[in-house]
Amino acid sequence: MTRTGQLSPDVPAIEVADLHKSFGELAVLKGIDLTVDAGQVVCVVGPSGSGKSTLLRCVNRLEEPTSGKIRVEGIDILDPEVDLDRVRARIGMVFQQFNLFPHLTVLRNLTLAQQRVLGRGKQDAQRIAIENLERVGLIDKKDAYPAHLSGGQQQRAAIARSLSMEPDMMLFDEPTSALDPELVGDVLDVMRGLATSGMTMMVVTHEMGFAREVGDELIFMDEGVIVESGNPRDVLSNPRHQRTQAFLSKVL
Ligand code: ADP
Ligand code: MG
Repeated sequence: MTRTGQLSPDVPAIEVADLHKSFGELAVLKGIDLTVDAGQVVCVVGPSGSGKSTLLRCVNRLEEPTSGKIRVEGIDILDPEVDLDRVRARIGMVFQQFNLFPHLTVLRNLTLAQQRVLGRGKQDAQRIAIENLERVGLIDKKDAYPAHLSGGQQQRAAIARSLSMEPDMMLFDEPTSALDPELVGDVLDVMRGLATSGMTMMVVTHEMGFAREVGDELIFMDEGVIVESGNPRDVLSNPRHQRTQAFLSKVL
C-alpha cells in the first residue's frame, strides 16, 4: 500500500491564522483562522464566491495572501526563504477540472511528474502508479487515453496521479462538481477510502452527505469569513447562524 498520512500527530498539518486576501479592491478572505490536524478531514462549504477556492489556493501558495500566517506541517510557507517546491510536494491538489494530459495514456499521466519532479526511475514510477490505479479502481484503464474515460474515471485518474506523488495531505476543490450525478458516487467512494486510510484532507464540496459521513469538521464560509464550524452532524442538523441556515436550506 502506498504511504499516506505520515504526519507527526503533534504538529498540525495546516494552520491558518488571520488570513486576508484581496484582489485589488476586492477583499475575498477577511481573517480566516483554521487548523487541520494530521489525519483529519475538514470539509469547507459555502456559497459560490465566498472564497473557498482562494483559501485552498493560499494553502499551497497558488495565491499570494495579502496578510496572515499559514503553516504547513509547522513550516511557515509565507517565509520568503521557504523552499516552496518542497512544501508543494507534500500537498496533493485535485480540482473540479481534472487536467489530465489528453495526449498521454492514464499510466503515463501518473508517471510523468513522478519522474520529472521527484526524479523516480521509470520502474518505480510505474509500480507506484499501478498501486494507485488499483486503489481508485482503474487498473483496467491504464493504457487508455483520457478522452476514452468517463468524467468520473478521469477524476479518479487525477486523484491517483496526485497520490502517486505520495503527498502528506490532499486538498480537493469541488472534485465532483463537474460530474454527471451518476458518476459522483465512485469518486466520493475513493475519497472516503482515502480518509479511512488516514489521509489528511481539506475538501471544498457541495456534497453534504459526504461532509456528514466522512468529515471530522465542517466549515461554513460566506463572504470571506468562517461563519461557523464544528462537528458536521451538528452544523448540518442544527446550524446556529441565519446565513448557514439559509445556505443549507438551499442545498439540502
Ligand atoms: P468560491 O470558490 O467560494 O466560489 P473563489 O475563492 O473562487 O470563491 O472567489 C471568491 C471571490 O474572489 C469571487 O468574487 C471571485 O470573483 C474573486 N476572485 C477569485 N480569484 C480571483 C482573481 N484571480 N482575480 C480577481 N478576483 C478573483
Ligand atoms: Mg471555488
